[in-house]
Amino acid sequence: MKGDLGRPTQPDAERSGEAPPTFTGNRGLQIEEPLIYEIGRGDVSGVDLPDPPKVAARLGGLERADPPGNPGLSEPETMRHYVRLSQKNYAIDSGIFPLGSCTMKHNPRLNEKTARLPGFADIHPLQPQSTVEGGIALIAELGRRLTELTGMAAVAMSPRAGAHGELCGMLAIKAALEAAGETRSVVLVPDSAHGTNPATAATLGYDIVEVPARPDGTVDPAAVRERLNDTVAAIMLTNPNTAGLFERDVIAIAEAVHAAGAYFYADGANFNAIVGKARPGDLGVDAMHINLHKTFSTPHGGGGPGSGPVVLSEALAPFAPLPFVHVAAGVPRLVETDDDAPAGAHPFGRLTAFHGQMGMFVRAMAYMLSHGLDGMRQASEDAVLNANYVRACLSDLMSQPYGDRTCMHEVLFDDAFLKDSGVTTLDFAKALIDEGFHPMTVYFPLVVHGAMLIEPTESESKASLDLFVASLRDLALRVGRGEVDRFRQAPRLAPRSRLDETRAARKPVLTYTAPESYRSAAE
Ligand SMILES: *Cc1c(COP(=O)(O)O)cnc(C)c1O
Repeated sequence: MKGDLGRPTQPDAERSGEAPPTFTGNRGLQIEEPLIYEIGRGDVSGVDLPDPPKVAARLGGLERADPPGNPGLSEPETMRHYVRLSQKNYAIDSGIFPLGSCTMKHNPRLNEKTARLPGFADIHPLQPQSTVEGGIALIAELGRRLTELTGMAAVAMSPRAGAHGELCGMLAIKAALEAAGETRSVVLVPDSAHGTNPATAATLGYDIVEVPARPDGTVDPAAVRERLNDTVAAIMLTNPNTAGLFERDVIAIAEAVHAAGAYFYADGANFNAIVGKARPGDLGVDAMHINLHKTFSTPHGGGGPGSGPVVLSEALAPFAPLPFVHVAAGVPRLVETDDDAPAGAHPFGRLTAFHGQMGMFVRAMAYMLSHGLDGMRQASEDAVLNANYVRACLSDLMSQPYGDRTCMHEVLFDDAFLKDSGVTTLDFAKALIDEGFHPMTVYFPLVVHGAMLIEPTESESKASLDLFVASLRDLALRVGRGEVDRFRQAPRLAPRSRLDETRAARKPVLTYTAPESYRSAAE
């Protein structure tokens, strides 16, 4: 697709640049929102409380003499503050969210409606089991579906997120090795892995040995074999990998790993590319986390909530952590203690206080039931189709590290097309914000120079992809024309432009010092 893509009528971009500063600092109906401490007044409250009764002080002179410094606001002021903040969030509900590896797909409203049913939303984890049988049955049924979709023997439902699932799976591997009287000290991790993989292995005390990718971006079984010996506990391999490519030698890798007495941990964050198409159990996987919040919709903006069940092979199933749901004679029940565990179970310990993220379980279940197996398969196919559409539309202008070939659910570009232009990957991504798009994932995977990873997911229509692609093409052409300032200053139209992200990370200012008055703060 090289032709014109009928850009929308050009908004008068210069106009907002030239607009004079306003008295309030607001830009039209874009309200400049101060901190709640800046707008709050200590003497204001949203509720009228009676004066406290006079009581004899019993704190030995330690009672507070100054007001506590809470930001006092009226109820409408409080509500407006938080609504305005929420409106500054970019969300999948407001536009395309092409973050590669994060899988930001549409969350059907049916999920939300179901999760809010009082029978699910109002239950408490400490309720007696007899009063939450429906909830426990849902966990069991969701778990059954996850094992069926993955072709695995068992599932641990309690991990709270993908990274937590990695910890769970690797702890199960460690427990299985220990049960066999083995102490192994090394975990193999490909160089394109998500940072959580080596972090998980290191947390458990393993030494990391890196496996470099071959020139086509996939792992060479020969490179794995070279590094295998009786000190290797496991390999952690993502498939499809973080370059958006299916590991075509995954079975040979699994066989080599098993022959060395090690286990195959699969990072299943990209399972959304293969649901209903391939089963990890058939590929030799021993443990794999599933990010319910990526593969089965459900929101995970702003860091939560997440859910990372781990499917386990026959060999690892006995080591699944407490608590877990055990189904006997068709009746599911929550097993909370070792003593209560069925015969043959050797839980490696307790991973979480409670059974897992109930709200996410309900959402994932609603997604599965409303899609059906054929619908889930189609979602995977559409996600892959959309990524390849983006790839095909951009491959003449943007460079790809591993050649222009079919990808899975995400397409990876590098910064070779920006070479000598004075524009970096970061500049290019920031320019997308001015165009009204959330940027793609940048500088990941680390092994690709100036990486840009785009994952459109199945949510996007062709019309929405066409506008996104046209905007990227326009930006790439502007790079070619040497319009460097446009990029270096981007985003110019966001409420804030370039923030010093390094300083914010290295020297975060976590305390608030009250100004003398709100007026002086506003100056
Ligand atoms: C998202 C992701 C993870 C971590 O999952 P969380 O749910 O964010 O903890 C691990 N590996 C890959 C490849 C991912 O994309």
